[in-house]
Amino acid sequence: MKNDTQSHYPVKPMNKFIKKCSVCERETSDTYCYRHQLAYENLMNNFKLWNEREEINFNEYIDIILNSKQSGTWVKELARHIKILSNSI
Ligand SMILES: [Zn+2]
Repeated sequence: MKNDTQSHYPVKPMNKFIKKCSVCERETSDTYCYRHQLAYENLMNNFKLWNEREEINFNEYIDIILNSKQSGTWVKELARHIKILSNSI
């Protein structure tokens, strides 16, 4: 009896695909972990809304996020990370 039909995909070492979140270094399969990915999507959506109303640039928006008491911790961590990145370019 052969069991070969059971293996639908080749077995590869999983840690090849494990990356670390750019912000908090939690293990993730993406650029950001789940929480920071959510924060990133919110950030970009909100930036679009702001930009339509006020024509601010992205750096100005990041500063607003960092200085706002209403920003959540995850978004602020992400914003800080983006600011460091954009300053180092
Ligand atoms: Zn993270």
